[in-house]
Amino acid sequence: MFCGRTPADGATMVPSPAGDAAVCLDCVEAIHEMVRSEADAKATGKPMEGSLAEVPRPHEIKAFLDQYVIGQDEAKRYLSVAVYNHYKRLMQPDSMDDVDIEKSNVILVGPTGTGKTLLAKTIARLLNVPFTIVDATVLTQAGYVGEDIESLLTRLLQAADYDVDRAQRGIVFIDEIDKIGRKGDNPSITRDVSGEGVQQGLLKLLEGSVVLVPPQGGRKHPEQKMIAVDTKNILFVCGGAFEGIEQKVAHRLNSRVVGYATDNKVRRIRPEDFIKYVAPQDLKSYGLIPEIIGRLPVITHLEALDRAALLRVLTEPRNAITRQYEKLFAMDGVKLKFAPDCLDYIVDKAVEFKLGARGLRSIVETIMVDAMFEVPSQDISEYTVTREYAEKRVDAAHLDAASI
Ligand code: ADP
Repeated sequence: MFCGRTPADGATMVPSPAGDAAVCLDCVEAIHEMVRSEADAKATGKPMEGSLAEVPRPHEIKAFLDQYVIGQDEAKRYLSVAVYNHYKRLMQPDSMDDVDIEKSNVILVGPTGTGKTLLAKTIARLLNVPFTIVDATVLTQAGYVGEDIESLLTRLLQAADYDVDRAQRGIVFIDEIDKIGRKGDNPSITRDVSGEGVQQGLLKLLEGSVVLVPPQGGRKHPEQKMIAVDTKNILFVCGGAFEGIEQKVAHRLNSRVVGYATDNKVRRIRPEDFIKYVAPQDLKSYGLIPEIIGRLPVITHLEALDRAALLRVLTEPRNAITRQYEKLFAMDGVKLKFAPDCLDYIVDKAVEFKLGARGLRSIVETIMVDAMFEVPSQDISEYTVTREYAEKRVDAAHLDAASI
């Protein structure tokens, strides 16, 4: 059986001449659609409508990102250029000169909670294209427990309200790409649930191919009709912490320095700056197959956020955490204020928990929940959160890194 459905599921089957296989009519239709859309795309070259003049310039894209994301200048620049080029690619005129602009999928390397997802999400908001986030670790090879690779396109389709054309120009953020590598050099022979099988599947999507996607996802709805989605123009942004990558970079740079020892140019790099020199070959030791690395040509890094940056994250972005709480209180007619030393305390806690900006929200939520419970019933017009109050709340909640 081609898709696993049987006449018992209500499928009309077309048996093979030998009678040893069968395909249902829905699959026949989907395959037809797939062949046709591929033929269409080939026939017309289908450049996107609209003109490049309507696409924001890299400078504008970065300025937009600056409103929401603190720091991470290099990643913003790389991403802005990658997105701009992506549009150029979509609009490239029919190739008359054999020059075909290739897709510039992006890989963001940086510790957790530094803004990788936020960057991708903000770009999608600017461009008004469908956007979805998937955690690479839940993806498994078809046939295993977990989500099929195609499920990420299901989510994109859902984000696009099932408008296939829009979905085909969307952005997919694949998180934790560093966790799908083969584990060690001795892959299990019987089960390679999260290793190379998944990578091969992802590779197909990254390269650009027409994929049959179950619109409801999963295998729970065997009766659903598949939708053909072409991933050629979907921009993939991958993110991963790649823990310990600084050492790999350091090692590579050091051995290079040894190799060029004759010219006496020994560069001094501070340990925290090694990440700036991250290159595709540093990713190999995480078990990513070279083909995947090759399909992620734009590589850039995000830096760990220091105290000053975390403080800015709390208050500066357009939808900064403190602003969100101010808005919640304002809806009850209460002006909310955070004492400056209270903000310092929140940052101290986030630094202690080592979760980057990711910890900030939970800490503030822990501090604010009692106040949010009481204040709406009180007759006050102003409420200030003091450091003493924050400390008491955090201590009472026994908050620690593991509970965030
Ligand atoms: P990750 O790098 O792990 O993908 P996220 O982008 O999911 O991190 O960040 C988690 C949360 O922390 C975001 O929702 C955002 O509120 C905040 N955050 C992280 N980094 C930044 C940053 N550079 N600027 C502003 N907010 C940030």
